[in-house]
Amino acid sequence: MVVELVFVGTELLLGNIVNTNAQFLSEQCAALGLTVYFQDVVGDNRERLALVFQTALKRSDVVILSGGLGPTEDDLTKETVADVWNLPLHRDERALEMLTAYFAQRNRQMTENNEKQALVPEGAVALYNKNGTAPGILMERDGKTIILLPGPPDELIPMFQEQVAPLLRQKRPEIIYSVMAKICGIGESQAETMILDLIDGQTNPTIATYAKVGEVHLRITAKAETEEDAQEIIRPLLETLKERFGENLYSTREEETLEEVVVNLLKKNQMTLCTAESCSGGMAASRIVNVCGASEVFLGGFVTYSNEAKQKFLGVRSHTLQTHTAISRETALEMAEGGARQMGADVCVSVTGLAGPGGEQGKPAGLVYIGCCCKGDSVVEKFHFRGNRAKVRTLAAIRALDLVRRCIIKKERNTEGGR
Ligand code: ATP
Ligand code: MG
Repeated sequence: MVVELVFVGTELLLGNIVNTNAQFLSEQCAALGLTVYFQDVVGDNRERLALVFQTALKRSDVVILSGGLGPTEDDLTKETVADVWNLPLHRDERALEMLTAYFAQRNRQMTENNEKQALVPEGAVALYNKNGTAPGILMERDGKTIILLPGPPDELIPMFQEQVAPLLRQKRPEIIYSVMAKICGIGESQAETMILDLIDGQTNPTIATYAKVGEVHLRITAKAETEEDAQEIIRPLLETLKERFGENLYSTREEETLEEVVVNLLKKNQMTLCTAESCSGGMAASRIVNVCGASEVFLGGFVTYSNEAKQKFLGVRSHTLQTHTAISRETALEMAEGGARQMGADVCVSVTGLAGPGGEQGKPAGLVYIGCCCKGDSVVEKFHFRGNRAKVRTLAAIRALDLVRRCIIKKERNTEGGR
């Protein structure tokens, strides 16, 4: 079943507001197994809205219109839709009661033009609005379903979820369910190459790759009658992905971030963390602090930008800095070990590199060393990030978190092996 989304509002055309309803409704339709081929945006203009509406009717089974249900002159969605179908407007008594109650509750005077909001086209059903004044409208005619929703998201979202989604679900019993496999440490093209055979000839489930900054996400989508059936369809493919990507796959939960995974791992192993950052300037620490409850495991961070700071706060030796420079494997190692020692943390991750744009002392911009000292075992990895200064710093912070994750997993594995 094809759904078309029509967004009404000159504000949208002028770029004054972001069309967040478009994202919400499209996502909801996809989750309901409904196909969206067209999203239209049109201003508050009767002729152009009528044209868009008529076009949508020709090519789609369901037309959902958002906005323009308010009391003012430029709110003309309902009137235009009724006009196109030659339907008179009738007062809906329940809608009027709700409107009156809405104003009474807020001690506000109801004006005459508010009463206009209780009008619905003949044969239409009002969708009552608990969160605002304008009721939504549902009409079925000639095999088409037309739904009008108020523009404000805090009215549109609950109205859609509570009143519209159940109705659309009945029309299309099949659901679309998806999970996200999140990968760090491998680039997009490499990730895609690793699953080319799985992408080839896919039908149900399907895989789509998304390149994110420093990460690759794979969305696996299945169509089925129930969520449980869809999960069954997805399960074998997810297992294959886990085998192929191994440790690079850090989560299969869409909402779970890399820093959350790191904090959870630290909690699980009762380890504390600190950071020792140079070119990332605290970005790794900041990411960790994104996680609610990070205080249980995160002790603090050093931002040691100068050589003096690296010596003073982390105990990096001047000999190391003189011989190998600040941007070196040796310095990253001493930063991580010194940080752990000074802070009394189980784990310390260090970042030292050249954020750019220019290179220095024969070293290219984007060269970054990331060290991690995890319960006395240290590693340092060398990276060559591409991009501007901001991107290099962001990537460095991401890979620092990722290194912490890998080091803890390695520790876990060794302890299990040793038992
Ligand atoms: P109202 O009764 O508030 O006038 P309405 O149904 O007439 O509601 P509009 O007048 O089109 O809706 O828009 C009202 C407000 O709702 C906008 O100023 C904007 O804040 C929000 N809004 C409208 N359309 C969208 C959209 N597509 N995405 C996000 N917000 C929107
Ligand atoms: Mg309005």
